Amino acid sequence: MMRAWISKYSLLVFLVFLTIIFSILILVPNYRHFPVSTVPEIILVVLHYGLSTLGLLAIFILLSLNKYIFAVLFPLFIFLSSLTAFFVWHIDISINLALIESIIYTDVWEVSSYLSWKLILYILFCCFFAVLFVVFRFKIRLTRLQILPLTFLFVFSSFLFILTNKLRFNSLLQRAPFAYYLSINDYLESRKELSQVRILVGDDSVSEADTLITVLVIGEALRSDHVQMGGYERLTMPNMEERGVIYYPNIHSPHTHTVSSLRYFLTRSTESNSEPMFQEGSFINAFKAGGYYTSWLANQNPLTPLRFFISESDTVIVNRPEISDYSNMKKLDSELIPYFKDLVAEKHPLKLIIVHLAGNHWWYNKNFPDSFAIFTPILNNRELSDNNRERMINSYDNITLFVDYVLNELIGIIEDKSAFMIFLSDHGQSFGEDGNWLHANDAPTEQNPACFFWFSDSYGLRYPEKVEAVSLNSEKQTDTSFLFHTILDGSLITSSYLDLEMSLFAKPSQP
Ligand SMILES: [Zn+2]
Repeated sequence: MMRAWISKYSLLVFLVFLTIIFSILILVPNYRHFPVSTVPEIILVVLHYGLSTLGLLAIFILLSLNKYIFAVLFPLFIFLSSLTAFFVWHIDISINLALIESIIYTDVWEVSSYLSWKLILYILFCCFFAVLFVVFRFKIRLTRLQILPLTFLFVFSSFLFILTNKLRFNSLLQRAPFAYYLSINDYLESRKELSQVRILVGDDSVSEADTLITVLVIGEALRSDHVQMGGYERLTMPNMEERGVIYYPNIHSPHTHTVSSLRYFLTRSTESNSEPMFQEGSFINAFKAGGYYTSWLANQNPLTPLRFFISESDTVIVNRPEISDYSNMKKLDSELIPYFKDLVAEKHPLKLIIVHLAGNHWWYNKNFPDSFAIFTPILNNRELSDNNRERMINSYDNITLFVDYVLNELIGIIEDKSAFMIFLSDHGQSFGEDGNWLHANDAPTEQNPACFFWFSDSYGLRYPEKVEAVSLNSEKQTDTSFLFHTILDGSLITSSYLDLEMSLFAKPSQP
């Protein structure tokens, strides 16, 4: 009876075994680095795994319809997936465009250093099963009887997978092996972005400075009222205060997520004219035209819509792109310090160095070392709820302490040079105020980013009127569109694209 049933529905039985075995072999590694401590968190992870398994099932149904297609594509799929799963298990690698580019274009990714007998054994093990299933597939027939249940299973599993993925912001597709699909999409989109007709601005720029290092540090999700200079009761940036930075507590960011915020302040956009966000390049080109050597040094992987701006730079360095911003592995901003040192040592009298920090990005615990866990208790799971609020804020404030440390190190490298630094966070962060969490909610808590200026002694001596103007303007209510004009003006660059009225280096007019 049982045997008869199995032989009647042989392909279905085959698919069930196939899916169970490979969901264990290639999906389970995705959850090794997930921090979970509460029951709801565990339930979520199990659901995530179950839905991902349905995604695998849908792929396997398609592949197995024809035994020849299955014989060719299935082992290939398993080879790629098991290779990826191995690295996910060991270093929580994520498949993304930046990683693929780094494999192709640079030597940052040392493949040979990861080759190990464990990797080879694991892949051989998975491929052995794959070949076994190919042999089995040749022994079974797709009978007419099975078409209806197969169609139902395919529609059911792919519908649930796609729907959940859509509702949960690509949460399923971000994980291996599905992430290959996302990165191919990303690649196509980034080609479109790069070929988009954006006009480079500032070709007529001229700089009056002979030697100068301009540093822009783009912070991530640091809200002004979580810095003591912005009125916070905790001391989160002691080094910056000691360095005498000029703090701007009243900066407004009309945008509350990274892409739109950077597009806004890197270009000439204003609240009344947002066209440059979509049609023009950034101030980086103006620096280049003015004789500056320009670099983009990032601990955040390049987001596709920002690629045009990043590619305006002479040098682009992305720290460890194999660890994505969604990973749970530590990828610390302090890793940028040696790169920064090298860039400063380059023999160009005029330099623009843009440092894009991972900063206060969620998941917080990955962005500060254990030694910076000063405010405790820190987070032990990823739950966004009021119960977790205190821990969230502690972890978040610990990052700010760490960012303060990293900035202090960067300043130490340029303090004896003619140099200045602008720190501007892309937006703030919410901790459950009015039901908002993290950012991208356009809430007031997310619209007041931390911002300050630091000047070297040499810069202050040469351009005292500029430092004085920045100091006089510090209480000004302005939005982040100040950056384009301010950074050019502070770097002694003149251009027809420059609007001095918007520069914080311009003395306020007397009332
Ligand atoms: Zn951001």
